[in-house]
Amino acid sequence: MEYAKAFLSKHISSLIHKDGIKKQFLATISEFKHTGLDDPLSEKEFTKTEGLIHRYPDRVVLTVTNRCFAYCRFCFRKNNWANFEGFNLQESINYISKHKEIREVLISGGDPFFLTDKRLDEILNAIKSIQHIRFIRIGTRILTANPKRVRNDTIAMLKKYRTIWIAAHINHPDEITDEFRFAARMFIDAGIAIVSQTVLLKNINDNYNTLKNLFCELTAIGIKPYYLFGCDFAKGNEHFRVSIEKALSIMESLRGNISGLCMPNFSFDLPNGGGKIVLEPNRTIEKKGNRYLFKNFEGGEYEYIDV
Ligand SMILES: *Cc1c(COP(=O)(O)O)cnc(C)c1O
Ligand code: SF4
Repeated sequence: MEYAKAFLSKHISSLIHKDGIKKQFLATISEFKHTGLDDPLSEKEFTKTEGLIHRYPDRVVLTVTNRCFAYCRFCFRKNNWANFEGFNLQESINYISKHKEIREVLISGGDPFFLTDKRLDEILNAIKSIQHIRFIRIGTRILTANPKRVRNDTIAMLKKYRTIWIAAHINHPDEITDEFRFAARMFIDAGIAIVSQTVLLKNINDNYNTLKNLFCELTAIGIKPYYLFGCDFAKGNEHFRVSIEKALSIMESLRGNISGLCMPNFSFDLPNGGGKIVLEPNRTIEKKGNRYLFKNFEGGEYEYIDV
């Protein structure tokens, strides 16, 4: 197996010997199976102005950079690494201002924290000046890929624009380091809540114990597990993908056995711009009129009479 060690942050390089991290970031020859799509979510179709994606009614994604601290081999926007068209802040602000149904701007990339605090400040300031924007989300790998990038100045700058939610990408308990905890604490202490996003990855985290440990530890830190994503069918991703059936069987064993606070939603994106699907394991064994037969988390069968 040929590994190419490229583009990794110092932080990731220092952890690359760990199994749960190595497989996420080192290229393998399996990637050359070029099945999969350049733009698996058909984001081009929903791009309103350079870098601005409007797919759902009340929220938009603003991709502010193609640079990242991580370069996950399974990145669904990996086509952007080479082909990013940039983003236009003024045109994005004009678009969002005209669309009063938009409540939230999700700043994404690449990693938004690849920009300087000064540039982020400008972007946040412009977004926050739009009256109907109620909150901002920042999708980032900063806690797992470059936790030292979270500086006191960064936090002070972000605080001006609350409410801000951090959506932190993390896939394996090996990524929870002391630096991770420290940086997460800085956000949380400043009143900036963190949710997590995890990609379900074959032979990396596709088992009960790894995900249980990850989700319970995140919750203990104060990070709410939000999404467990099926791996998008981007080019070269085939060897990372896990079947829906397996994903749901893991979700089924997690549900009930661990606190509901630790449970993310299992979700994946439909190709051709279909958007996100959220699935729960099926608990309904039978339904006759208003009489249901359910399977509980222990496998026991219970009847429920609905109204
Ligand atoms: C995932 C996604 C969002 C955010 O969806 P949530 O369910 O609110 O987390 C917004 N826009 C696009 C294009 C997305 O892919
Ligand atoms: S952190 Fe996100 S944007 Fe960056 S390489 Fe990984 S999946 Fe892609």
